[in-house]
Amino acid sequence: MTVNRLYAGYQAELADFRLAFSRGGAYTAIVLVLLGMGLDYGQYPEWQGPFAVARIVVSMLIAGIVVVLYSQHGRRLAPWLTLSWLLLPQLMIAWMIWETDGVASPYYVGLNLAIFASGIALPFGLWQNVVFGGLSYLCYLVACLLHPDGLHPVGTFLVNSLFVLFAGAASAVYTYFNEKGRFQLFRLKEELANKNDELARINENLAQIKGQLLQQEKMAAVGTLAAGLLHEVNNPVNFCLMAIEIALEEPQAKESASLQECLIDARQGMQRIQHIVSDLKIFAYRQPGAEVEGRPFLFEKALDSASRLTAHELRGVRMTRELPPDTLVFGDEAAIIGVLINLFSNAALAMRKAGTPAPAIHTTVVWKDGRLHVNVRDNGPGIPSENLARVFEPFFTTREVGQGLGLGLSISYAVIERHGGVLFAESELGQWAAFSFDLPRAE
Ligand code: ADP
Repeated sequence: MTVNRLYAGYQAELADFRLAFSRGGAYTAIVLVLLGMGLDYGQYPEWQGPFAVARIVVSMLIAGIVVVLYSQHGRRLAPWLTLSWLLLPQLMIAWMIWETDGVASPYYVGLNLAIFASGIALPFGLWQNVVFGGLSYLCYLVACLLHPDGLHPVGTFLVNSLFVLFAGAASAVYTYFNEKGRFQLFRLKEELANKNDELARINENLAQIKGQLLQQEKMAAVGTLAAGLLHEVNNPVNFCLMAIEIALEEPQAKESASLQECLIDARQGMQRIQHIVSDLKIFAYRQPGAEVEGRPFLFEKALDSASRLTAHELRGVRMTRELPPDTLVFGDEAAIIGVLINLFSNAALAMRKAGTPAPAIHTTVVWKDGRLHVNVRDNGPGIPSENLARVFEPFFTTREVGQGLGLGLSISYAVIERHGGVLFAESELGQWAAFSFDLPRAE
């Protein structure tokens, strides 16, 4: 974050702080100005009446400023309004000094009090504090000069002047360091907030990496299982099929329609097992990171093919796309078309099942770090978070029994993995689901 931006944030926070303190300070000033009648009673009983009137007038003027502080301009004008209400008691004290004993009056102490209070209790800036100290001293000087005795006794005048000026200087120094400390505190707060954001981002990335690692482990386990299964299942399935073919040629089978039907059913069942087994091959012989067998092809063409092949399922679905001018990637074009078909038909099915009002699928394709990143997003029902991590598991499906095998996404995952990429799912339940993957650029 630049210092300028940080400073702007600090100023905004300070403005609120100043406003609140100015209001609180003004109330305190009103109380102290009025309580000062006790001082008048002890020090200048003969002036009690006029001084009381002056105190009430000053209190009312300060109250008027408080009203402005609460208005919509209060925040913007707070520094000036604060300076104004602080100067009112100073002018009043100066007038009292002039009217009574001049240099000999002990009331200059009141001037000092306000100077100290402005530095300690109010979040004044350095220059404001210096101006206030200077103006306070000016009030004192003018009051003494206007008094019939002038600056006499000079010694007392000098001592009192020094006290007022010392108070101004001490208050200014205090304000300077106070301001610095406040800024430092604000900076630390900002840094902490930034660090927290960063940590949240790192956590999110870690969770994603953990998910991907888990997925890879799962797929490796599935690979081992599939390899074993292929070995064990292929042979019996093949000789069953062969036996069925031979049986179908037997005269009894040809004569008995029901026997023939049974054998054809058995053959169909076996062929189905064969298909599933062949789908599992992709897991069994997968080698993460191995060079993908393929050739350069235009991803745009693959997208066209997939859209054409799913045109029937995608009826009524608005298909949109964003593509860069060149989409030449390297890989297994047929397998990638398969992945896209799977993503499109899954989305279409989910949207149809949920009765999505204006079903749409948007495909975004961009180049990033030498790879083509593809995002297929639908506005369907989305995927509940507990399923999000499971959709790539082989045989995970939410379709009715017999409707889907739950192999589509797991096969797609393995295909993308062979291309050195990752297929991952994101979703906001009830809003959208999106699948992303990346492919290598053709050299
Ligand atoms: P199948 O399509 O046979 O169920 P898949 O592996 O292709 O198998 O998908 C697994 C599950 O993922 C689906 O049953 C469905 O619950 C969920 N799924 C996939 N794509 C989407 C999508 N676009 N919207 C909602 N759910 C989806």
